[in-house]
Amino acid sequence: GLDVRTAANAPGLWRGELPRPDAAGHKYKRGHLVVASGGPARTGAARLAARAGLRAGAGLVTVASPPSAVAVNAAQLTAVMVRAVDGAEGLADLLSDARFSALVLGPALGIGEETRRMVEVAAAARRHLVLDADALTSFSNNLAGLWQVVTSAAPAGIVLTPHEGEFARLFGEAEGVAQARSKLERARAAAAASGAVVVLKGPDTVIAAPDGRAAINENAPPWLATAGTGDVLAGIIGGLMAQEMPAFAAACAGVWMHGAAATAFGPGLIAEDLPEMLPQVWRTLL
Ligand code: AMP
Ligand code: MG
Repeated sequence: GLDVRTAANAPGLWRGELPRPDAAGHKYKRGHLVVASGGPARTGAARLAARAGLRAGAGLVTVASPPSAVAVNAAQLTAVMVRAVDGAEGLADLLSDARFSALVLGPALGIGEETRRMVEVAAAARRHLVLDADALTSFSNNLAGLWQVVTSAAPAGIVLTPHEGEFARLFGEAEGVAQARSKLERARAAAAASGAVVVLKGPDTVIAAPDGRAAINENAPPWLATAGTGDVLAGIIGGLMAQEMPAFAAACAGVWMHGAAATAFGPGLIAEDLPEMLPQVWRTLL
């Protein structure tokens, strides 16, 4: 039968599924995360997600950048790599290399047809995906298109990370969402309607899987409500999935680690601080 549970999101739920590097490991065994960047004036979000993916333990992280934004990305990256990738066609070429294990698509990527095609290409290449921000909005009122993406990606894991606005644009018309009596039930209905793990963000983020599993996260401090923190969350989850952590567990762990990092930093937090707090959070988990 289904493993149906609702719980306060706590490390005990997923600690056993966290990736643990072993002595024989090398960087290629720890996964390679790709984060797609927006154009020259919209690159910061991808770098935030990329840095978070590296701190979440991915062995390698590459920012896939429009050619016009490679210089600005390269000037601000060190351990994260940058590659010129031109739209959906360029992404299809990149993904012919099987070592790229997971992608974060959406932060500041731009809304529209090209972003939608990039998502479709990544799904058809059966990579683990975190879809956030503009990738979600590019499927507004197009639940059929999103369902197609999720089913074509199987057996890869797909995690959607909408805030309430993105959620309403994507799932406003979905079966069971309007009638749902709680945030928990809305997230569950969206997971069932999309076939993906849904992370419905906010002070009480709900993580729901299509099979009915769900968790409510309670460790997020209010100073997380600042620019760029959502991009960091997408990067953490992507970094865990690049290491083959299962989608629901990676989403639960990522949301908890994000809240714990913010709590550990305290007031005055900006998004850039979050990835740098992850080593401290890891020490409490492993
Ligand atoms: P985004 O809306 O994409 O920028 O993501 C914002 C991030 O901050 C998400 O992880 C939210 O769950 C979190 N967040 C937003 N508002 C609050 C709040 N009032 N308290 C705690 N966490 C929040
Ligand atoms: Mg966001």
